[in-house]
Amino acid sequence: MTQTVPDDVTQFLSGASQSILVGGQRRRALSGRTLETLDPATGKVLTEIAAGAAEDVDAAVASAVVAQQEWAARKPSARGRALADLAQLVEDHAEQLATLETLDNGKPLTESLYVDSAIATDVWRYYAGSPTRLGGDVLPVSPLVGDAFAYSRREPLGVVAAIVPWNFPLLISSWKIAPALAAGNAVVVKPSEVTSLTALRLAELALEAGLPPGLLNVVTGLGREAGRALVSHPQVDKVTFTGSTATGREILRASATNLAKVTLELGGKSANIVFGDADLSAAVDGALAGIFLNQGQVCCAGSRLFVHRSVHDEVVARLVEAARGISLGHGLDGDTDMGPLVSQVQLERVQGFVSGAVEEGAHLAVGGVRAGGELSDGFFLEPTVFTGVADGMTIAQEEVFGPVLSVLVFDDEDEVVRRANASVYGLAAGVWTRDLARAHRVAHRLQAGTVWVNMYNMLDPAAPFGGFKDSGYGRDLGEEALLGNTQTKSVWVNLD
Ligand code: NDP
Repeated sequence: MTQTVPDDVTQFLSGASQSILVGGQRRRALSGRTLETLDPATGKVLTEIAAGAAEDVDAAVASAVVAQQEWAARKPSARGRALADLAQLVEDHAEQLATLETLDNGKPLTESLYVDSAIATDVWRYYAGSPTRLGGDVLPVSPLVGDAFAYSRREPLGVVAAIVPWNFPLLISSWKIAPALAAGNAVVVKPSEVTSLTALRLAELALEAGLPPGLLNVVTGLGREAGRALVSHPQVDKVTFTGSTATGREILRASATNLAKVTLELGGKSANIVFGDADLSAAVDGALAGIFLNQGQVCCAGSRLFVHRSVHDEVVARLVEAARGISLGHGLDGDTDMGPLVSQVQLERVQGFVSGAVEEGAHLAVGGVRAGGELSDGFFLEPTVFTGVADGMTIAQEEVFGPVLSVLVFDDEDEVVRRANASVYGLAAGVWTRDLARAHRVAHRLQAGTVWVNMYNMLDPAAPFGGFKDSGYGRDLGEEALLGNTQTKSVWVNLD
């Protein structure tokens, strides 16, 4: 496997990527320590990143506090223009950002380009319109004495800490940073130690777009060092996190000390339901995209596929045939359909779920093994489908976060709604049917933050995204994410 990497990407990898970005300046971590970051398709070192720690976080937050004052004092139209300029730069650098993402995370370049870079651009455009839209209300107050006029203002929180995972580094960074900046805050980002590159490049583009130095800072490093120091920092006013439930709980505990507001987007075990009357070609395509996009490392992956008994065998046959046809390879190779998992740790975690499912009695219909041959140094797992999965099996309850689909059979609507909801998670769900009434009925009964009907994995900056139950609280995207980065002030004026 030999890939051609564009010069601008090579240049970034040999210099800028090894620094943190604080106060508008690129510099080494104060400790001088670095961490290796790997290309998951080859297992080889891609570059090194700075191992930032508490003292780097202190410097980043101090810069953010100062820059936030300047930013919030700018007119809304000026803030909107700067964000629109950044949106344009993200679009202009779509290929560069996508190439970095593919090298760092492993996903195919087409996905990095047409999902990650494309939606990130849309997200920046959407929130570029927010500063001039963000108003308050006139409040219909009834003062006890005399008369008064009262109105509300939506004011920034101050400094927002964004903890970003490794599955969609550019996209989730954008989800978290754009509404925070649009609402007048400053941001310090701690990307995942295994995929820090696009967050760093995004912050460089923000400087180019004219955002004040220090408004957007990136401290790379370990979650248990830089991440922990950031979320518990006394001057951090909000933490927005996407990642595991365990780390989410830890962040919540840390917020008891600094009283930071917290938004948590955690795991999922989403049910994708195929009724007997569904368009089966569309449903099978949707099921495949629902589990194999980004190698299944997607919080809303449709990992529990409930199929009506009347179409079960046909759906399974089509899934297995399609899974066999998926070509694994380096994300920069044009004929790659699916890349590697992000790391050796993640590969082993997913392999553990696969062997556990076999031991618990699920039937391995296809896949389940690490790819060999010229892919053996990378972290590749064959696309995997289990049938005969029972609700109580670990594979039907826990988030696998890999290309592993569990197929479950059902007989009627009430039963499938009950079983779909029998999960601690509630992030997303899918419904495939030609019956319009049933589509809405089931969508309303499913306990999930997003329900897709006759589609799957669709995202848009206008649609809030987040979970019910243990999948977290607060929302990314939409007006909710904007408002979640503000605090409300009521102003009273005596009219007597
Ligand atoms: P984590 O939740 O540990 O990592 C997510 C982010 O949190 C990373 O940036 C990580 O940094 C950071 N982090 C880790 N510990 C702390 C801490 N104490 N304080 C602040 N930040 C911290 O997830 P893992 O990478 O360990 O993945 C484990 C599982 O989590 C996956 O298999 C999957 O099930 C789930 N997950 C869900 C995601 C989602 O989209 N909902 C995304 C990623 C994972 P660092 O990487 O440097 O440790």
